[in-house]
Formats: sequence, C-alpha cells, structure tokens
Amino acid sequence: LMQLYVPLNFLGFIYATLRQSVVDLEGMFELLDESQEVTDRPDAAVLPAHLAAGVDAPELRFDDVVFGYQPERTILKGISFSVAPGHRTAVVGPTGAGKSTLSRLLFRFYDVESGSVSIDGLDVRCVTQASLRAAIGVVPQDTVLFNDTIRYNIAYGRIGASAEEVERAARLAQIHDFITALPDGYDTMVGERGLKLSGGEKQRVAIARTILKNPRVLILDEATSALDIHTEQEISTALRTVSAGRTTLVIAHRLATVVDADEIIVMQDGRIVERGNHRALLEAGGVYAAMWAAQADERAHREDLLF
Ligand code: ADP
Repeated sequence: LMQLYVPLNFLGFIYATLRQSVVDLEGMFELLDESQEVTDRPDAAVLPAHLAAGVDAPELRFDDVVFGYQPERTILKGISFSVAPGHRTAVVGPTGAGKSTLSRLLFRFYDVESGSVSIDGLDVRCVTQASLRAAIGVVPQDTVLFNDTIRYNIAYGRIGASAEEVERAARLAQIHDFITALPDGYDTMVGERGLKLSGGEKQRVAIARTILKNPRVLILDEATSALDIHTEQEISTALRTVSAGRTTLVIAHRLATVVDADEIIVMQDGRIVERGNHRALLEAGGVYAAMWAAQADERAHREDLLF
C-alpha cells in the first residue's frame, strides 16, 4: 500500500503546485474554469449592468472574513474593511500575510468560511461568476503574453477594440513610446517566440488591457521584483491613471504606489494590525513606519547605483 500511497501523494503535490501557479496567472481566471468548488447558485443574480458597463464604481466590503485553503489552517482570521466607491485601498505586509488571498476571494476563486465579501451590498456568492468577473479588472503580478503582436496583446482587453483605442490605452499605460521605438512598432511579435518583455513592460501591457476592458473594480497585484526607479515611476503614473474613478484594491509591494492611497491596510499573519493613510501611519511609528524606513534605505541605495 505504501508503494501506491507515495505516487498518489506526489500527484497531490503536483496538483497543488499547478493550482498555485494557476492562481497566480490572471489569464487563467477565465481560461481555466476554477469553479469545481465554487459554482453559481441556482438563484444567482447578475451584478447590475451599470457595473459591467463602466458607469458607477461600487463599494467593496470584507466583513469579518475567515478563510483557509485547508480546513486545518486558517489564513484570514477575521478581516473587515471597506473601499468606498472610486477610492483606493492598498494592502501591505510581509509575504504570506494573506494579501493575495483577499483578491482571490473578491474574484470568488474560493468561498469564505465565515463572514462575507460584497460589492455594493451584494454578497459575491449570490451573483453569477460571469457578471462578477466582467465587473473586475485584474492587473496581475505576472502577465501572460500570447505569441502574437503587441497590438493583439493589448487589444485582448477588449476584443474588437480599434487601433486608435489600443494606442490610447497604451499611451495612458505609459507604454506607447516604448512600442513606437521598436522597429515594427505595434506589429512587433512578443511572447515566448518573439520579443521578451521585462516584468515592468508586461505589467504596463496588462494595465493597457485593463484600460480597454474598463471595469469598475480594479485589483492590482504588484510584482514583487525590484524595478528601477524610472520604471517604478512610470508604473505608478500608469496605475494612478487606470485606477481613477474605479474602486481599487492594490496588493502592494512597493511603497511608492501606497503613499497616495486613501487607506492603507497593514496585514500580518491573517490579521489587520494597522490602518490609516500614509501620514497617519508614519506618525503612529508602528509596523508601517518601520517598513517605510527599511524601503527608504533600499531606495537610497538603488538611487546611488543609478547616479
Ligand atoms: P501574501 O499575498 O500576503 O504573500 P497569500 O495570500 O498569497 O500571502 O498567502 C497566504 C498564505 O496562504 C500563505 O501561507 C500561503 O502559503 C497560503 N496559500 C496561498 N495559496 C494557497 C493555496 N492555493 N493552497 C494552500 N495554501 C495557500
């Protein structure tokens, strides 16, 4: 029996690993129907059309959310916060604190154990997944590029977008100048068999896609990798543009995109340990202030390298 057990266990491991990478890929949100465990209720409502059609930004609310991927290990231990319509909340904290899990619950990859996640007062468990996912745009840590032109890769945000719309989105995402400097411009092939884009460039492609999709709710999962100061500033500008007028949740790794958030939530080990805006948190002199001091040192070091 042991002989059988080991390979089965191993398969389980591979499955868990695959599943984790799937969770990390935005494209897979739609490609792979993750919904074996999460299904529409028979009486599921369609989120009001104005959310999908891009008119009003809704309120997001996490109400005493408790959640674990496995029953024996609780990851979120009672999380409550809300993001007012059109506002931006940034979530910071060490790796493993549960930040990305919040975005997975908002997208309803998984259901909460207790508490609720709601959009404009509608529990995400009570609406169809199709309407939920149409209302939410995700800029993931690592964007999947197709082996196709960069124009196609941006237009994927809204199939059928015109060349002018693609270009306008690229400008807003701070990637237009980079594209036009390429010999083949918007017709440049990218992806595995074409031009490889850096992490920062891929993230700007994702931002351009999201501008085309025009969702009312935005989740930004910043890349953890260090970016050079110039790229970091371009991305911050692009993020400010794309999040204007949308209710935005930023899973933040770089404090540059956090400073002007309406509210910053500091998470540690599945709990909120501090909250407030940048100034208030610095004055409080707690966990956030210490993180800020550490990153400021690191930034100064990188700037030294630059000049
Ligand atoms: P953060 O974004 O703050 O780094 P995550 O929300 O990604 O943290 O993860 C929180 C915890 O949940 C971590 O301990 C992680 O190992 C665990 N976790 C994340 N995804 C899964 C999963 N699919 N299955 C089991 N555990 C997971």
